[in-house]
Amino acid sequence: MSKSVDSLLAALTAHAPWVALTGAGVSEASGIPTYRDHGGKWLGSQPIQHDEFVSDAARRRRYWSRSALGWPRVAKALPNSTHDALAELERSGTLSGVITQNVDRLHQQAGSKQVIDLHGRLDQVRCLDCSAIEARSTLQTWLETHNSLPSAASLNIRPDGDADLPEQIISDFSIPQCSRCNGTLMPDVVFFGGTVPKPTVEACYQLIDASQGMMVLGSSLSVYSGLRFCRYAAERGKPLIILNEGQTRADDLCWHKYDTEPFSLLAECAHHLRHAAQEQLHG
Ligand SMILES: [Zn+2]
Repeated sequence: MSKSVDSLLAALTAHAPWVALTGAGVSEASGIPTYRDHGGKWLGSQPIQHDEFVSDAARRRRYWSRSALGWPRVAKALPNSTHDALAELERSGTLSGVITQNVDRLHQQAGSKQVIDLHGRLDQVRCLDCSAIEARSTLQTWLETHNSLPSAASLNIRPDGDADLPEQIISDFSIPQCSRCNGTLMPDVVFFGGTVPKPTVEACYQLIDASQGMMVLGSSLSVYSGLRFCRYAAERGKPLIILNEGQTRADDLCWHKYDTEPFSLLAECAHHLRHAAQEQLHG
């Protein structure tokens, strides 16, 4: 066993249960595009801001036209070995749950039970006026029926999944309104500049309170909404472990950082713990 596996295994065992805070890096291997590189630098275009979406109909049209092309890729994404390892750690009692900054629902797909979608979920659409929820897949069918979309292959798709669409397509793009009140529909996610609902934040604090330690996976913690939980855990004397390639904003708070192939390391530890549990069962 490598030294890193040894030390991570020892920590996982000594301070269980842990709560995991996950970011875009975890879903990268599933083909979900990330906004930042390992150094925290932006890739591609700036994502839409909450206020822009709410107040600017042209900006909304642009968002939905690009999203109509990008969504199928997200919809067919599958969990990878890191999602599997976290689900495994929950089953073995090493993990109390996951707080995720990702909106792709891959933790749930992998079998994790206790998951808080900090920034919402992309598979749902919410009405800004009456709060009704609709499935994104229903909306996708509507978008594809009422617009003539170019094939993804004919476009220059950027690393963040956005496509450079011809302006004509964007200005003619039709978007549906809420079937209940004719209001404005928005993906059920927290855009940049938006606010995480208070009950969601409270649920995260409760999950941290119920855990002995906290681990951060695949996030540079560039966004305050995740960073505050690391500070909260550190203030309460809970060990903080970071599994991430590259710098994070909580490096000074952490107990130990694993930045060399952190995801394979975690998968290996989950594997060891599963075997240990099985041996105990049969021994
Ligand atoms: Zn409505």
